[in-house]
Amino acid sequence: MSSAATVSAGPGPEPSPVDLLRRLRAHSAGDPVTHVERVPARAGVPAPWPPWAPAELREAFARRGVVAPWRHQAEAATLAYDGGHVVLATGTASGKSLAYQLPSLATLLADPRATVLYLAPTKALAADQLRAVAGLELEGVRPACYDGDTPRAEREWIRRHSRFVLTNPDMLHHGILPGHAQWSGFLRRLAYVVIDECHTYRGVFGSHVAHVLRRLRRQCARFGATPVFVLASATSGDPATAAGRLTGLPVTAVTEDASPRGGVTFALWEPPLLPPDSSAAASPAPSQAAGGHDDVPDLIQVRRSALRETADLLADTVAEGVRTLAFVRSRKGAEVVAASARRALDEAVPGLGKRVAAYRGGYLREERRELERALLHGDLLGLASTNALELGVDLIGLDAVLICGYPGTRASLWQQAGRAGRSGQEALAVLVARDDPLDTYLIHHPEAIFGAPVEATVLDPANPYVLAPQLACAAVEAPLTPADLTLFGEGAKEAIDELVAAGALRQRPTGWYWRHRERPEVDLRGEGGAPVCVVESATGRLLGTVDGGSSHFLLHPGAVYLHQGVSYVVDELDLADGCALVHAEEPDWSTHARDVTDLSVVSVRSYVDAGPVGMFLGEVDVTSQVVSYQRRRIATGEVIDTRPLDLPTRELRTVAVWFTLSPQSLTAAGVQAPDVPGALHAAEHAAIGLLPLMATCDRWDIGGLSTAVHPDTEAPTVFVYDGHPGGAGFAERAYGTASAWLRATRDAIAECGCETGCPSCVQSPKCGNGNNPLSKPDAIRVLDVVLANLPA
Ligand SMILES: [Zn+2]
Ligand SMILES: [Zn+2]
Repeated sequence: MSSAATVSAGPGPEPSPVDLLRRLRAHSAGDPVTHVERVPARAGVPAPWPPWAPAELREAFARRGVVAPWRHQAEAATLAYDGGHVVLATGTASGKSLAYQLPSLATLLADPRATVLYLAPTKALAADQLRAVAGLELEGVRPACYDGDTPRAEREWIRRHSRFVLTNPDMLHHGILPGHAQWSGFLRRLAYVVIDECHTYRGVFGSHVAHVLRRLRRQCARFGATPVFVLASATSGDPATAAGRLTGLPVTAVTEDASPRGGVTFALWEPPLLPPDSSAAASPAPSQAAGGHDDVPDLIQVRRSALRETADLLADTVAEGVRTLAFVRSRKGAEVVAASARRALDEAVPGLGKRVAAYRGGYLREERRELERALLHGDLLGLASTNALELGVDLIGLDAVLICGYPGTRASLWQQAGRAGRSGQEALAVLVARDDPLDTYLIHHPEAIFGAPVEATVLDPANPYVLAPQLACAAVEAPLTPADLTLFGEGAKEAIDELVAAGALRQRPTGWYWRHRERPEVDLRGEGGAPVCVVESATGRLLGTVDGGSSHFLLHPGAVYLHQGVSYVVDELDLADGCALVHAEEPDWSTHARDVTDLSVVSVRSYVDAGPVGMFLGEVDVTSQVVSYQRRRIATGEVIDTRPLDLPTRELRTVAVWFTLSPQSLTAAGVQAPDVPGALHAAEHAAIGLLPLMATCDRWDIGGLSTAVHPDTEAPTVFVYDGHPGGAGFAERAYGTASAWLRATRDAIAECGCETGCPSCVQSPKCGNGNNPLSKPDAIRVLDVVLANLPA
């Protein structure tokens, strides 16, 4: 490898981000840049230590290099110290941990009996926090992790002596709450509950965790304790409401980030549409789908793939001598990007390709350090990787970051972009859009990225499929009383009545009692059907689990399953045993399952009557079947073929949002009767694609159906439903933000430069009807009618 003295591979010194971006644009045919945002450097706003923070604690922080808190840290800490429940929702690396460490540790120092319970979504995060708290070396705190890995021998010591216990919601649910008698001393003295990364508790999992926290509050109350809840969240829309739903308590939000950050020039980049006759576009999907649907050629028009575009950008930045990290979703994708960047560089300057690498998972710690070292010293200039977390925490201060496709949430986007920028130096970040309606919308609506966040963390504690099993768990821990109906909230009484009717609970004068000897088996992360285990056949190793609802989509035979960036191919999905057998393989294609759906309305929960337009929220029964899957080339997105599947239908009672339009209003808007199905279908696809803008979810969490006349509504109707039994909050959020959601949907379609519809606007990878019929211009007309009538 070359020495650090010959860092720059390109001519002259490193260009500024603005110059660099100008050169990248010049290399491109047309101008792919839709927006450039200069995110200015921000000086941090420090605040004095709160007067209540003891000297011992300030000194401990000072030893760690914290001379004073930032303003948001001090504000949240004081709110919590004064007894208010608080959520701190600020950017990555804004120092959220100080905000909960400060009040909780100050209390432990002031009251030698008080205890703190810290919850993290992963064991790794809890271990990090343990190191941080232990590193403060405070007398008598005795922090300890208590999770599935904690040796039996240590558990009793922790229960008795630790005053800062770090755990996760699963351990709280399976271990601590059922064993509350052993924990009574700890719970009786519980002063604070810290919930870190609380935005990860969303959907059905989040709804379960919400009830685990209510069970925790109930046990504390029995022992006379009322702990203060302090939550840390990624930036999101309305964090106070989300935290309130999670804890069941009134929560104050602190959202103004006062930590310092470097300046970033952030470009939004849209790969160009390919001419319709190019080879990647002209790939018909053979008609092999089961289910009786006529398949039509799928991709009429496509964009240049985000991977190719990212590879070109990586080659260009490396040629300029700029240290660049490219984030790509899959490991295979990262390898494709690195390989084609290397090839392009070697063609330009033989040997230059060596300075680009792909980061593969599973490196030893020393290998990772070596890679980080090579990149920081400039021996290596370009790295393509799956995601930030795998790289460890040391890789920051790069000159440019390329993000191949919107990573799903603003929090992840900023986490990835945050790798750019050394202290005092400006850096470049580029988001390269994939062919997806949400990506299309975002790069044409920079305010959705750079303005106030709109995406909210949603959960639905009233989901009866969550509430009933959680009430059963609560009843085992202590008989349920009328007071608990308020604690567990909406639907609790109905759920208890059903448990009584089913013989699980018995009502006595003193409350409702659990009737069985054994505890109910409730998995926080699975719902409806039991979760499906993903097992590597050769080794018997359990790679992970997929919830029952998504298993047909993600684990059908032939599916390419990604686990921590490594790809596996499914050999067999054994539904009876609830497991999928896979082998490690990195094919050149990805797989996309498609389903067909039938839906009937069970009840209407809420509606808006807007003249010719109706907007509804209610329960529906969905029957769906995954019927086939497509294989697509990773590098180009080209469809290789469509293969049939033989999977059973599944029934789902869930929550849906739907809208209806009068046929007259459609005719008046210029949508001819034969075009109505294609118009509604196209609007449905795009609406599903845009829902993650309003609520953190992905396509697999939601489904849709559209029809020119539905028997239950007797009108042209578009349904969008939660793909989880009982609902997960996504449809409800869509209903609550209907006009903003459908406005964004309309704009995403209208702003896509294609003529007849493409994957960036109205085509869906999971459509069971082979994306037929679809009418892009009529979808805009449909949405215009809805938006013109619906109150904002
Ligand atoms: Zn399009
Ligand atoms: Zn469809």
